[in-house]
Amino acid sequence: MHEVVVIGGGVTGIQASLDLANHGIIVHLVECQPSIGGHMSQLDKTFPTNDCSMCILSPKMVDVIRHPNIRVYTLSEIERVDGSEGDFRVIIRKNPRYIHEDQCNGCGDCIQVCPVEVYNEFDAGVGTRRAIYKPNQQSVPDLVVKDPVHCVECGLCYDACLLDAVKKKDEPAFFEVHADSIIIATGYSVFDPGVKKQLRYLEFPDVITTLELERMMNASGPTGGQIRRFSDGKKPKRVVFIQCVGSRDMSINRPWCSCVCCMASIKNAILIKEKSPDTDVTICYMDIRAYGKGYEEFLERAEAAGIQFLRGIPGEVSGDKGNMSLIVEDSETGELKDLKPELVVLAVGISPSLQAGEIAEKLGISRDTSGFFKSLDEKTGIVETSRPGIYIAGTAVAPKDIPDCVAVAGAAAMRSFIRSIRD
Ligand SMILES: Cc1cc2nc3c(=O)[nH]c(=O)nc-3n(C[C@H](O)[C@H](O)[C@H](O)COP(=O)(O)OP(=O)(O)OC[C@H]3O[C@@H](n4cnc5c(N)ncnc54)[C@H](O)[C@@H]3O)c2cc1C
Repeated sequence: MHEVVVIGGGVTGIQASLDLANHGIIVHLVECQPSIGGHMSQLDKTFPTNDCSMCILSPKMVDVIRHPNIRVYTLSEIERVDGSEGDFRVIIRKNPRYIHEDQCNGCGDCIQVCPVEVYNEFDAGVGTRRAIYKPNQQSVPDLVVKDPVHCVECGLCYDACLLDAVKKKDEPAFFEVHADSIIIATGYSVFDPGVKKQLRYLEFPDVITTLELERMMNASGPTGGQIRRFSDGKKPKRVVFIQCVGSRDMSINRPWCSCVCCMASIKNAILIKEKSPDTDVTICYMDIRAYGKGYEEFLERAEAAGIQFLRGIPGEVSGDKGNMSLIVEDSETGELKDLKPELVVLAVGISPSLQAGEIAEKLGISRDTSGFFKSLDEKTGIVETSRPGIYIAGTAVAPKDIPDCVAVAGAAAMRSFIRSIRD
């Protein structure tokens, strides 16, 4: 029997798992969060077609969980890897869910009675969740999870669950699996704009990130798809996007382009205009990188919709919380402008995943100077690493959009498949 371990259940890991499983390979898909889906499940629409992100991803997530050849390990991480290409022994640590997974039917009765409300990671801080919760409405697997840090042990969830699925105590579980090869698809994290103090993120309530905006735009998100200011709940009349926050910025040693931010801001600017045609939307940029198929046309669509493109990056957000000022030099005319935004959206760049260093150490592979996993050859061996039998794909390698992630996932799956059937 041929087996492969895929680490990371974002769109890249999902695609690689499905490609392998459909060719008869047994896949162990290891995801550290309670649900698979990764960042794509947080997005509202996807450029350049503005298709609903979950409408594309959700059927794939369901295919994964139902596939007879795929074993999904959520809340799980790689503990240890021994052996070599063709004969890896992988120890998976499954962290406690505090739920009997075979008894929970995902009905959510326990969530209704939970009195605790905390920051919701899935909504990037825009919304809240309970101490017993589902990460999102389309979580896969469709199970709740109890957060032991915030649970106050009031006992209401035990009483509410007619299936006795909520556990009072739980322990990590360990699984040893065999793998011919391993695919790393651990994705990315977004740049923390708090590093650039002059942008006043978390200091001014109406300075938000593009990921927060994605959650706000989503009809099933915390604001029901309404764009609102955190300061007063009002609809902003002037929205300004600042591009390249944490990208192409040598002052913080981040020279790389994050690839998706130009198109993601254009997408969200178009969606704001569609929802609210009387809102002024400006994008402050260095260069617009519309490099993919249909992307230049998407940019033209934004211009036709009345979105302003201003070539210049403001140095700081000034003024005060209720009355922001954003002074920027239009580098095409030399004119200084104060945009007086009511909402500032920071187009935060793409960083290596937070656990990339730990994974590299456990699996004995290298990272490049920016912290992404290093390909064996940047041109002809992008999915291979310095360790035979360990492959990398998606944004774990470098910033990429979804179509590129899916294409590279297929390439990694193919290499892995060939490795499996070789012996
Ligand atoms: C604001 C914003 C808007 C965007 N909009 C678009 C768009 O419209 N169109 C488009 O094409 N692209 C868009 N993108 C880019 C898109 O999000 C990515 O291309 C895509 O989601 C990357 O998928 P991935 O699977 O490589 O990584 P991720 O989605 O990051 O998935 C990685 C998975 O690995 C898991 N993981 C991490 N570490 C571990 C570990 N140690 N063990 C186990 N699991 C682990 C994570 O929990 C996660 O589930 C946007 C990006 C941003 C920031």
